[in-house]
This record gives sequence, C-alpha cells and structure tokens, in this order.
Amino acid sequence: MADQTGFFGHPKGLSTLFFTEMWERFSYYGMKAILMLFMTTEVAQEGLGLENETAGAAYGLYAAGVYLLTLPGGWMADNILGQRKAIWYGGIFIMLGHLTLAIPGSTAIFFSGLCLIAIGTGLLKPNISTIVGDLYPEGGARRDAGFSIFYMGINLGSVLGQVIVPLLAENINWHLGFGAAALGMFLGLVQYRFTQKNLDDIGIVPKAKLDPSGEKSNNTVAIILAAALVGVIFLLQTLGIVDLTTAVGIRDTLGVVIVLITAFFFLYIFIGGGLNAEEKKRMGVVVLLFIGAAIFWAGFEQAPTTLTLFARDLTDRSVFGLFEIPSGSVQAINPTFIIIFAPLFGALWIKLAARNLNPSAPLKFAFGLILMALGFLVMVKAAEIATPENKVGLYWFVLTYFLHTAGELTLSPVGLSTMTKLAPAKLYGQVMGLWFVATALGNLIAGWYGGEFDAESLDQMPSLFMSVVWLGLGAGIVFLALSPIAKKWMGGVK
Ligand code: GLU
Ligand code: ASP
Repeated sequence: MADQTGFFGHPKGLSTLFFTEMWERFSYYGMKAILMLFMTTEVAQEGLGLENETAGAAYGLYAAGVYLLTLPGGWMADNILGQRKAIWYGGIFIMLGHLTLAIPGSTAIFFSGLCLIAIGTGLLKPNISTIVGDLYPEGGARRDAGFSIFYMGINLGSVLGQVIVPLLAENINWHLGFGAAALGMFLGLVQYRFTQKNLDDIGIVPKAKLDPSGEKSNNTVAIILAAALVGVIFLLQTLGIVDLTTAVGIRDTLGVVIVLITAFFFLYIFIGGGLNAEEKKRMGVVVLLFIGAAIFWAGFEQAPTTLTLFARDLTDRSVFGLFEIPSGSVQAINPTFIIIFAPLFGALWIKLAARNLNPSAPLKFAFGLILMALGFLVMVKAAEIATPENKVGLYWFVLTYFLHTAGELTLSPVGLSTMTKLAPAKLYGQVMGLWFVATALGNLIAGWYGGEFDAESLDQMPSLFMSVVWLGLGAGIVFLALSPIAKKWMGGVK
C-alpha cells in the first residue's frame, strides 16, 4: 500500500504524478500557445510564413492527433508496456519532439517534431491519469480530491508554460521558446525517474496481464475496422472525393472520420453491445455529453487560435504602460483562474449537494455551453470596436477567459467523472477514451476557426465570433430542454 500521508495528506505517488504532468503540460500548453503565431509569422521574421487557412488546418490536425493518439496510447499501456513505461517513453518522445522544433529547419522537419509530440502525448496523457485513479483503489471522494489536486498540477504547468515559452519565443527567438518546452519535459522526466519509487508497483504490469479474460476479440474487431477504414480512405482519395495532399484536405477528412467512427462505435454498442434497457439509457446520456463536450471544446480551444491572433493583431497588450504581455501569454489568464476558482467550484457542488440542489450533469453542461457562448459574445463586442490603429484593452480577454473558465469548471471535471460513472463496467476504458475523442474533435474545429481569422477583413470578425455564440447558445438551450429527461435516463447516477 502506498504511503497515504506524503502529499497534502495524499499518497506520495501523487506528488510524482503531479510534477510529471505539470512539466508535461508546461511543454504542451507553452508550445501550443505560440504554434499558430509561429506558423503564420512571415519567413523574414523567422516564422513558417503559412497562410492562416493552412496553419489553422495544421494546428487542428496536430491538436486532434494528440488527443486521438491517447486511444492507442492507452491500449499500448494496457496490453504491452504497462502505464509506468508508457509514461516514461511518452515523455522521451515529447522531449525529442520539442527538441526537433527547437532546431531551425524546414517545414517538413517542423511537422515531424509535431508528430513526435503527438505520439508521446498519446502515450503519456491517458496513462498518467489512469495511475492517479489507481492510487485510490477505494475510489470515492478521496479519489475525486486526488484528481482535483492533479488538475491543479495541469494548470500550474499551463500557466508557467504560457508565460515563459511565449516570452522567450516572441521576444528573443521562436526556437528558444521550443527549447524551453523541451527543457520542461526533461525536468519532468528527471523528476519522474528519481521519485518513481513512490508509486510502489502500481502500473508496472500491463493491466491485460492482470486480467487476461475477454478484450482479445474486441482487439481483433478494432484491427479489422481500422484496416477497412484505411481502405475506404484510399478509395475516396483515388476517386477524388477527398484530397489528402493538402493540410486542409486531411483536416476535413479526419473530421468526417472521427464523426463516422464515433457514430459506428455508439451504434455497435447499442445493437451488439449486449446492454440492458437501463444501460442503453445511460449510454444515450453518454452520447449527449460527448456532443456537448465536442461543442464546448470547439469554442474553448480557440484560446491559442483565433483569440491569440486577435491578441496579436488587435489588442493593446501593455500593462499599466509598464511592459507588454506577449500575444501567446494572454491565454494564461485561463489556467490562472482555474487555480483560483477550482476549489471554490468544488466546494459549491458539495454545498449544493448537501441541500439536494446540485444540478445534474446535463444541466451543468447547459451552463458550461452558455458560459462559453457568453465569453464569445464579449469578443463580438471587442471585435466591433477593434482596429489595428485603435486596439482594444486586455480587460476584454480577462472577462472572456473568466466566463470560459467558469464554463470549463462547470463542464470539464464534471463531464469526465460522469462519463465514467455512466459507462457499464466493461466499457469503462472505451468511454474514458471517448472523452478525449470529443476533445480531439473540438480542437479540430477550433483550428478551422483559426484558419478563418483574418485581421485584414475586420468587418467579418464579429460575425465569425457570433457564429460561436450561436453554436454554444443553441447547444446550451437544447441541453436545458433535454436535461430533465436526461436526468431520468441517468437512473440515479449522481
Ligand atoms: N485542460 C485539461 C488538460 O489538459 C483538460 C483537457 C480535456 O479534458 O480536454 O488536462
Ligand atoms: N484549463 C486547461 C486544462 O486544464 C489548460 C489550459 O487550457 O491552459 O485544464
């Protein structure tokens, strides 16, 4: 049994995972904060000089790829590597990826760096969360508290990354920024190596070896489906229906593929999954939450795309005339707010629950989506008055990110834990994976929005942001309307 008193009254192993994830998120969010900026900056200023549309597509593909690869990453750990090794190798891939970006070179080298990071994050991210859960075999409120501390680590890493990496990248040299991300992951790896003993033997043996029943037939079905999918994509390319030679074409194809796979997955579960009526209703709610999460992230994840470009081109980023915040650092307002408000939201749910007033998950999703929409409504107003000569103040972003953070805290942690509670035991891992697929889809759409951003045609900007408002508001209203019935379908799951 792991030592229970080592880290804020939690197992010492949590400290190992907290700092590893902190450094990993430092590198991930730090680099992501400057990715769109770097890709759209002129070659003369040492950027990649890509058109916004191509850069947005590349951004979306990268961020979606990161989250999609968590599915094979989880599978590799469960069946071959075990969680511990998956985290270690994942971290090495991530560090090498950022190092590749740190070397000035061709676009092709740059994209290979992104691929390395995506593979590494796919290995590290899902498996580190799994071990956090494993530290608390008893589950319950202590496990929830452990995850809240872990979420703080994520956001601490994110603030540091989004402050330090853009500072170096925008003020000195892009590649120094990427180098700082690599160094962060290196520190995370060193820390992980030297404090691993805190984890005892958790995550060493692959889970499938501990429970060798079942799963195998599922794997065969998955491999056959994947092969069929590759075949279909080849066919579509040959017939000229999709164009896989451009980033935009690949992005569009991936979007369709994600939606189709998810739809097939749900159909398969409903028809051939051997679920009883009760379980089917709960899976119906999982479908609903999946759609809500994807729409939420499509808005929220525009922090490094449209919102960062807006911060660069149309915002006066000076603070009391003393210094200027780098464009990529404006988004650090979100993780800062998370660190401040996460404990308050956690306490609020507990207080409300004590009076039996805690809103159901679908109702919280409605609030989250509406808050995201309101954040963009603020940006619509900012976009109406901003011009390159008459830039807007940073306070617009403070308000937008405040609303987005309130939305995130209402939807993200709630969504993750509710999805797992709704999943029948045998589908637990797959439903966890679906949560990341929703994030992938959201990121892909956020990249698309980034590609639509054009500081030269200012008259289009309010309507671009307004379309996000309608998306969030529309979905929020649908969730409000469906929440009573969805609550019934949840059948007592809280
Ligand atoms: N920002 C959080 C993280 O990086 C949540 C992301 C998500 O669930 O999509 O872990
Ligand atoms: N708030 C995001 C996630 O935890 C991190 C970020 O977007 O900076 O939490």
